[in-house]
Parts: sequence; structure tokens; C-alpha cells
Amino acid sequence: MQKVERLKELNELIFLETSICYPGRQVVPGEGKFNAELLLIGEAPGSDEEREGRPFVGRAGKNLINFLDAIGLNRKELYITNVVKIRPFKLSEKTGKPVNRPPDLTEKDFFSRYLYKEIDIIMPKVIVTLGNVPLQSILRDKTAAIGEYHGRITCFGGNNIFPLYHPAAIIYNRSLKEVYNEDIFKLREYLDI
Ligand code: URA
Repeated sequence: MQKVERLKELNELIFLETSICYPGRQVVPGEGKFNAELLLIGEAPGSDEEREGRPFVGRAGKNLINFLDAIGLNRKELYITNVVKIRPFKLSEKTGKPVNRPPDLTEKDFFSRYLYKEIDIIMPKVIVTLGNVPLQSILRDKTAAIGEYHGRITCFGGNNIFPLYHPAAIIYNRSLKEVYNEDIFKLREYLDI
């Protein structure tokens, strides 16, 4: 079966099983070029992504475009997905409205199974992970820390993984921003663009 059909089948499975285990929740599937050389993996969708049913739109999408500009690629050339494919939220004590929270262990385990299948189908040359959640999921190591792995290739399970800090983590942290920019420079060198 072709990659595109296998991805379609996988997404149907994700929608079906999520509707059973997380009824009524909006699934945000991966999207992009099915034979992309670069697979980008984020943590989980936020409110903009949930509303549009697409990964990395809204503010996170703007960050992503800056990141892609810096490595000389555009969105259409990659495949973009998240570990968790529903928005993890809690109700704010102040407003009673949903606010984002980090994905919990059950969500990460439930959705990681699909991530492994996505990787098997796409078979990218390099996987860029953003932050701890996708790094731990791919390395199957709940203690792996981005501080230890960022900015260099780690080979695991036949995949070349280039971990980066999550762009959201660098917004208020100047020194991390410098590290992040250096890492992007190294990624660009690695990709030889
Ligand atoms: N939006 C996403 O789709 N993923 C993230 O990790 C953050 C924002």
C-alpha cells in the first residue's frame, strides 16, 4: 500500500479510537508531505489548533514559520504532527474556561502508539522534536531531558532525531533563545541547506 493510503488508514484509526476513549474531543491529525525528509513533532495542540483541526496554527504557527525560515524550508516540504492529538486542557479556577495544561501520562501513552506508526510510514531522514514530550516519546524514556539532547543528532530505533527546545519555552528565556538559535544553525548545517 502507498504511504498516502497508509496515512489515511492510520488517521481513520486515530479518529475512531479517540472517539471511543476521548468522546467528543477534536482530533488534530498530522499534516504535510507524506514523503517528507523532515518530520517535525510537537507536544500537543492548543486552542487554535483544536479550533482549526490542524497542528501549529495561530501563535504556534507563527513561531513555526520563523523556525522554518531560519532553516530555509517551508511548511509544505515537511510533515508536521504532535505526540498527543487532542488538546490537553483543564478548567481555569478563575474563569471556568478551558486552559492548556501539559499532556498527562495516559494521553502520552495512548497517542504515542500512533506516532510510532506515523514515523514508520513516513520514514523521514530526520525527525525534529520540539521539547521534552516528543523526545521522551520517541526515545521511550520518560526521564530523557531536552537539556541533555538538544542540538545534535541522536540515533534511536533506526531514526535520526534532532531535538530542539520547544519554541514556547524560549519566549521568556533569553539565554535559552541563544542556545535555540545555535541549535537551529547546527540543524541547518546538518540538513546542508
Ligand atoms: N501547537 C501544536 O500543534 N503543537 C505544539 O507543540 C504547540 C502548539
